[in-house]
Amino acid sequence: MTLPFPRDAAAFVEEIREAVGMELSLVLTDNAVTMISVRRAGKKVSVRMHHMFLAACPAVMSEVADFIRETRVKTPLMRDFIKKHEGLVKKQQQRRVSCATAGRCHDLLPVFDAINQEYFSGGISAGITWGRSCGGRVRKRTLGSYSCRTNTIRINPFLDRKRIPGYYVAYVVYHEMLHADMGVEERNGRRSAHSREFRRRERLFRHYEKAMAWEKAGGC
Ligand SMILES: [Zn+2]
Repeated sequence: MTLPFPRDAAAFVEEIREAVGMELSLVLTDNAVTMISVRRAGKKVSVRMHHMFLAACPAVMSEVADFIRETRVKTPLMRDFIKKHEGLVKKQQQRRVSCATAGRCHDLLPVFDAINQEYFSGGISAGITWGRSCGGRVRKRTLGSYSCRTNTIRINPFLDRKRIPGYYVAYVVYHEMLHADMGVEERNGRRSAHSREFRRRERLFRHYEKAMAWEKAGGC
């Protein structure tokens, strides 16, 4: 199940920019703990919001724009919208089990759930699944990916082998969950998925050093 997102993310960001009328950096995230946060530095505003807002109607969007400009305004429609969609996000989390998480050697779901609790206060609602292998052969270039459009993390089935340590699979899952949480930052018109902040948080993973060492020693 996916939430109904009638808008394209890029068009949405433009829409908000126009409505707010300020210099704005906007990141769509999958962190369901903080639905919307606004940070001001001089004339610049940085906004992070859950991608559920892609489904917001114009009346809600207008309140969101007001909220970004002036955080203390009243936002009854925005609150209602968040409440309603929080429920949908939770339902989505429960139905996630239908994805193919149990591989031959590694099961992604318990890994995902443990990391979600430990590092994200359970706030990541993305689905997770093994990717499809093409005719038994898998390309190992991309170990994992996160799609903001479908809110799904895909892990390369290449990693579903005995010789791949569990902590390494967990590291790849954590990396993709960080993408879900942080969204894709846009700086000077260029999209940077691995910002300095991303790299900083990546190192917080308890098996980060071990995973890097294993990768350096030959890895996959
Ligand atoms: Zn990445």
